[in-house]
Amino acid sequence: MSGAGRPRVAVCPGSYDPVTYGHVDIIARAAGIFDEVVVGVVVGSTRKSYMFDAEERIRLLQDSVAHLDNVRVEGFNMLVTEYARQVGACALVKGLRAISDFDYEFQMAQINKGLASEIETVYLPASAKYSFLSSSGVREIAVWGGSVDDWVPPNVVAAFRRVAGTHTEDEEE
Ligand code: ADP
Repeated sequence: MSGAGRPRVAVCPGSYDPVTYGHVDIIARAAGIFDEVVVGVVVGSTRKSYMFDAEERIRLLQDSVAHLDNVRVEGFNMLVTEYARQVGACALVKGLRAISDFDYEFQMAQINKGLASEIETVYLPASAKYSFLSSSGVREIAVWGGSVDDWVPPNVVAAFRRVAGTHTEDEEE
């Protein structure tokens, strides 16, 4: 992919709270295009709260992409363009779902281009079966005890069970 030059590195940024099969699909497809993919997990941000702490979001992702040789997962706590520069990336790769993603993503792409003109934002269309899948949707289903087996890897299903168990124990105290 890189020819004789430097390896072409992409960053797949996100909060991954938690990772879904939609994310894994985008990461795997990015791994087929670029020499190296760094999955950057937002650690702390302007967003108030996460269901899973950064350590767990990273661990769940690492397990879920362990089969992809040229992918690594890390936390980051800075501007995404700054982080991309730090890891030597030439592109940010993001998944684009329904039309609702477009407005925000188009805005972010312009802003990031202004901050780092050498870094391109590359959008991969969500696969049809995951085009309505979001971490927030999955959290909502899981919180109410619904099955999320079709949407998240088994380790995430187990993590949801642990959270539910903790809540039940809390309530019993
Ligand atoms: P955010 O917190 O900004 O919504 P996420 O952590 O949910 O970001 O997602 C990270 C990236 O994965 C984003 O580019 C998002 O568009 C993409 N993504 C999330 N869910 C899917 C999906 N089901 N199919 C394709 N891309 C997705």
